[in-house]
Amino acid sequence: MPKMLLLSCCAPCSCGVIKKLSQEGRDFAVLFYNPNIAPQEEYQKRLEENKRACDTYKVQFYDLEYEPDLWAEAIKGCENDAERGERCFRCFLMRLRRAAAFAKQNGFDTFSSVLGVSRHKDMDQVNKAGLMAGELEGITYDTFNWRKGGLEELRRAVNKELALYNQAYCGCPYSKRNKVVGPDKSSL
Ligand code: SF4
Repeated sequence: MPKMLLLSCCAPCSCGVIKKLSQEGRDFAVLFYNPNIAPQEEYQKRLEENKRACDTYKVQFYDLEYEPDLWAEAIKGCENDAERGERCFRCFLMRLRRAAAFAKQNGFDTFSSVLGVSRHKDMDQVNKAGLMAGELEGITYDTFNWRKGGLEELRRAVNKELALYNQAYCGCPYSKRNKVVGPDKSSL
């Protein structure tokens, strides 16, 4: 089995996948690169919860620098777009490109993400960004659907089991203002 890097947005979205892959003995690690999250206290909280989920299942966890200025630059001009619009596409692409570069530099064979796990997200949009990021950085993006095969049920169960913190908005200041939601409590 190829070694895979999984980009995670938060523990509530990734916990089911982490548990399943870990129990299957898959060779993989989790990466937290989410400069879209604001404010920084919220970022810190989500990071710590994601690390806790990985520690629970003994999965290698990496986190990269918090770069909100780079993220703001990436989505510049699209601040007021609706969710699933160009702002989200650029947000996905920026994070996935960084994940692809990290995977390439650190000996992973493929990379994937749980950015499309929430039912509020457009899986096709995430896959498009992932494939583009992989092409740009020279590594294969795995478009596996992490919602299927009982993973949604498992995700809900692990959320309860670990009593994970569940945020009420996707992450960026615009999603908070517009009450655009991501992996929120209503999805559990
Ligand atoms: S709503 Fe979520 S996916 Fe869209 S730009 Fe904001 S943080 Fe990124």
